Amino acid sequence: MKAAPFDYAAPTEVDEALALLDEFAEDAKVLAGGQSLVPLLALRMSRFDQLVDVNRIEALRGIELVGETLVIGAMTRQATIERDEEVRRHAPLLAEATRYIGHFQIRNRGTIGGSIAHADPTAEYPAIALTLGAEVEVASVRGRRRIDAGELLESAYTTTLEPEELLLSVRVPVWGARSGFAVHEIARRTGDFALVGGAAAVTLDEADAVARAHVVLFGVADRAIRLSSLEAAIAGQPVDQLDLAELAREATAELRPPSDVQATGAYRRRVAAPLTERLLRTAFVRARRAGDPTEEAAR
Ligand SMILES: Cc1cc2nc3c(=O)[nH]c(=O)nc-3n(C[C@H](O)[C@H](O)[C@H](O)COP(=O)(O)OP(=O)(O)OC[C@H]3O[C@@H](n4cnc5c(N)ncnc54)[C@H](O)[C@@H]3O)c2cc1C
Repeated sequence: MKAAPFDYAAPTEVDEALALLDEFAEDAKVLAGGQSLVPLLALRMSRFDQLVDVNRIEALRGIELVGETLVIGAMTRQATIERDEEVRRHAPLLAEATRYIGHFQIRNRGTIGGSIAHADPTAEYPAIALTLGAEVEVASVRGRRRIDAGELLESAYTTTLEPEELLLSVRVPVWGARSGFAVHEIARRTGDFALVGGAAAVTLDEADAVARAHVVLFGVADRAIRLSSLEAAIAGQPVDQLDLAELAREATAELRPPSDVQATGAYRRRVAAPLTERLLRTAFVRARRAGDPTEEAAR
């Protein structure tokens, strides 16, 4: 099958793209890396009158540390993020999670903005944005606004972006000293979308108690979700006194994940608890290492 006919524009400036999105609104679609959109068009699962290809807009690309925030242009390729030194130093979780996205051919074209805007409930980047407390900056002809990742992800393949809005950048806060991160997932084969995945970011205080924790699962609901009750239960607690297996079991008991051809909801719920426990164990070990001067010198 071939895609239904559409008009194509490839602006080189953000303002040009915004004018087109404003003119065509619901009938227009942004084309980024095309790794999700092109198959949908080719299978006629989506059709639009006007494609706005933003690949030639240089201003949407790049990675820059601004104060304590890593600002990543929406059109930055996943492969660039995977290898970037600033990302590895200031947002290592993002670099680590990128390796789970499909195969290198996909990552060479796929973009961070496209992945977050697409909001696949089993995708890594929306979940990592939620874990790290990232925001996105978006624009329309009416102006710019920032949206917290938790408010952006509405449901499966749906965000709170308006049709005439363009995602400009992803703003990832740098977590401070004594922070540790983990991402793990269960997939049928390397490169497949996760059946269930998760990520954790923790900060420990001087006494090895939990100063801050964000724990996220994906593939268990219509969008990536934070395990807020677990985060609250471990806040302020000394790491060595936590019964992580029990806490993870309690935190995942109420989940009702979807069933599909890849796995049943019951299987997904079954693996969510050990996955959550493993996320926390890894993140705590890494947070301790990050605060250990002998480990840092050895790195
Ligand atoms: C074989 C295969 C395996 C894959 N495996 C994985 C995987 O394991 N994990 C994973 O996370 N992903 C996976 N993907 C998807 C891949 O990561 C895509 O790159 C990503 O989902 C979409 O990014 P894109 O840049 O290609 O966006 P596109 O496909 O071009 O666009 C996706 C959607 O986002 C919108 N959009 C894009 N950019 C913007 C913007 N700047 N502002 C507003 N809206 C925008 C588009 O209009 C469209 O609705 C896989 C894809 C393939 C083909």
